[in-house]
Amino acid sequence: MPHDAGRMEQIIVPLSARPQVALDGAIFLSRVQRVFQALGLAMRRYRTAVVGLQIAVVVFYLLLLLIPAALPLPGEEARILDHITRFAQFAFWGVWWPFVILSSMVFGRLWCGVLCPEGAISEWASHRGLGRGVPHWMKWGGWPFAAFLSTTVFGQLVSVYEYPKAAALVLGGSTLVAVAVGLLYGRNKRVWCRYLCPASGVFALLAKVSPVHFRVDQKAWDAAPSGTRTSSKHAVNCAPLIDIRRMRPASACHMCGRCAGERNAVRLNLRSPNSELLRVRDEPVRWEIALLVFGILGVAVGAFQWSASPWFVEIKQQIATWLLDRDLMWPLQGNAPWWLLTHYPEKNEVFTWLDGALIVSYIGTTAAAVSAWSAGWLFAGARIAAMSAWRLAYALLPFAGLSAFIGLSALTVTLLRAEGFVLAWVNPLRAVLLGAGLLWSARLAWGLAPAGWIRKLAACGATLAASSAVLWLWIEIFYVW
Ligand code: SF4
Repeated sequence: MPHDAGRMEQIIVPLSARPQVALDGAIFLSRVQRVFQALGLAMRRYRTAVVGLQIAVVVFYLLLLLIPAALPLPGEEARILDHITRFAQFAFWGVWWPFVILSSMVFGRLWCGVLCPEGAISEWASHRGLGRGVPHWMKWGGWPFAAFLSTTVFGQLVSVYEYPKAAALVLGGSTLVAVAVGLLYGRNKRVWCRYLCPASGVFALLAKVSPVHFRVDQKAWDAAPSGTRTSSKHAVNCAPLIDIRRMRPASACHMCGRCAGERNAVRLNLRSPNSELLRVRDEPVRWEIALLVFGILGVAVGAFQWSASPWFVEIKQQIATWLLDRDLMWPLQGNAPWWLLTHYPEKNEVFTWLDGALIVSYIGTTAAAVSAWSAGWLFAGARIAAMSAWRLAYALLPFAGLSAFIGLSALTVTLLRAEGFVLAWVNPLRAVLLGAGLLWSARLAWGLAPAGWIRKLAACGATLAASSAVLWLWIEIFYVW
């Protein structure tokens, strides 16, 4: 047999021997990829429709933010569909926040690029602003961490989920700063979103496990003549300032679709949710890990937990008794303004200085304990697995994302129950989601660890053990207290 014929046989036989199911699967996948590619191109082709959608979201956002803040607080009988304040509360905290977290894990940062009102306003402001360059201080990697922590804790102090004036202060304040940044820096850019937005760090982390992303083929990009575009006459403007040609991780991409088809090299693509973390082997970003472990797993869970915690009540009673015995009255007074500590006497809800100090301490202590516990296990597991503990920490991402969704959606459930929905299936569903998060994290740890059963088992075991503190806190909240 001639040499070439032998090679051909080697190639043909395995192909023809492939099981029909695998072939059908490959054909199906390639069709799905083509659908996604077309969707990406449509996002660019119908840019005007996307801008129209953004305008509608901005109007909706401003109305829901400002009108309830100007109205008296609703009575107990007010319902979501008959009072705008209740409707806005459900829209912002019952739908927007929990499902934006979930959507970041499924569609990447589609919310940022297509729907976020703050990003759109900031970009429009930068269209007419001074167009200055991004200052050096703004590029500090710790801003998303610092902004997330301060916004989360401050939101708890002013009861941002419950009161419209507090929501207007936290969300509206953030929007005003976004506009100011847009007016000062960048031209048609989203400098605010890229460097300072309190949620951007969380969205960037969660987008790492999204199965949908814009993929750039660098070879095709370099091979295409400059200016080759599939679907638009206009030059591409990447608002979050990404070097599109070199884009590998999906974290920074806002999924706006403006670069789809550029130089026949950019397309909306389906991928394995683990592929970015397993394939992109850049140095772990320590601020990202701090945000993941201390922020999403620690601070966020502390913030979700304190108001339901019997430990919080017990500690507060002990300290209040101690203060009363010594005639120290000022920490027990509720005379702080509403924009510093919750102050709504008409609703019998007034935070004292002691409440404020305890909320900050409770959240801080929870975050420190969760971080110390998780870090201990990660470093121990990474040592056995002969890998970086910082890299292994990325394995916690799926569990942290689902944990944040469960925490934020707790208010969704509370609001719906107040409307008369029973929702008996919620606690079993929470258990399923937490279990799925743990399994997914363990699978990631397995993939991240170097070859060898012992190393992989050590990485998996350490990841599960690191997650166990947060798991225990959720069990206390939903199944014990
Ligand atoms: S790389 Fe930039 S332009 Fe392209 S989809 Fe992402 S955010 Fe939009």
